[in-house]
Amino acid sequence: MEDLKGKVAIVTGASRGIGRSIVLELVKAGANVVINYKSNEKEANKTLEYIKDLKGIGMAVKADVSIYEEARMLVNKAIEQFGKVDILVNNAGVSKIALFMDMNEEDWNQIIDINLKGTINCSHNLVKHMISRKCGCIINISSMWGNIGASCETIYSATKGAVNLFTKALAKELAPSNIRVNAIAPGVIDTEMNNWLSEDEKKGLEDEIPMGKFGSGQDIGKTVLFLCGEGSQYITGQILTVDGGMT
Ligand code: NAP
Repeated sequence: MEDLKGKVAIVTGASRGIGRSIVLELVKAGANVVINYKSNEKEANKTLEYIKDLKGIGMAVKADVSIYEEARMLVNKAIEQFGKVDILVNNAGVSKIALFMDMNEEDWNQIIDINLKGTINCSHNLVKHMISRKCGCIINISSMWGNIGASCETIYSATKGAVNLFTKALAKELAPSNIRVNAIAPGVIDTEMNNWLSEDEKKGLEDEIPMGKFGSGQDIGKTVLFLCGEGSQYITGQILTVDGGMT
C-alpha cells in the first residue's frame, strides 16, 4: 500500500464516478483531499461523508474547471486550507455520444472546454506553486479513445488525444523541477457516464472486453495511487491504459 500521509491532493470532478473512487483511494493511503465538483453538491457531500467514514480529511470546492478564474479559485482555496498541494488529478470530463455530423458548435465547445481546457486551467494555476516547491505530481484522466479514436465520440476522442500529448509535453517541461506528469487512459468503467447504454448493449460491450467485464472506479483509483506513490518515482510522460485488454 502506498503511503501518502501528509500529502495534499486535488481531484476534479469528484462528486461521483471515477473521481469519487480516486478520492477514496487517496484518503485510504493517508492523503488530505480537496474534492471539486461543478453542480452536484448533494453527491459531493456524499463523497465527503465517505471520507469521514474512513477517518480522513477532505474539503469540497464548487468550481467549473472550464473557466480559468474558477480553476484558480479552486487551487487557491486548497492552498489556503492545507498550505500546499502535492497531487493534482485532472479527472473532470464529459462525453456526448453522437455522429459527428449531428453535433453542433455548442456541443464541441463544451467537451473541449471541460476535458481539455479544464485540464490545462487547473494545471496552469497549480504549476507555479509546484515549481516553487520543486515537487509535485499531476495525473490526467484521459481515455482509451484518446489513443485510438472512437466512432460517435469524435470530439471526445480528440480532447483525450490532446490530453495525452499535453501530458507528454508538460512532463518534459516540468521534469527538471521534479514534477511528474502522467495520464491514465481508462477503458469502459462502470459509472453514470455509461448509463445511456441498455442492458443488452452493456452485455455486448462486455463481450468485447478480453477480461469480460467493465472496470471499476477503484481500478482507476489504485492506478492513481501507483502513479503518485513511491513505486513510480522514475515514471513521467506516460499514458497508462487500464482497459481490461480492450485496445
Ligand atoms: P461522471 O460519472 O459523469 O462524473 C463526471 C464528474 O465530472 C462529476 O463529478 C461532475 O461534477 C464533474 N464535472 C463535469 N463537468 C465539470 C466541470 N466543468 N467542472 C468541474 N467538474 C465537472 O464521469 P466518470 O465516468 O466518472 O468520468 C470521469 C473521467 O474519466 C472523465 O474525464 C471521463 O472522460 C474519464 N473516462 C471515463 C470512462 C468511463 O467509462 N466512465 C472511460 C474513460 C475515461 P457534477 O457532479 O457536479 O456534475
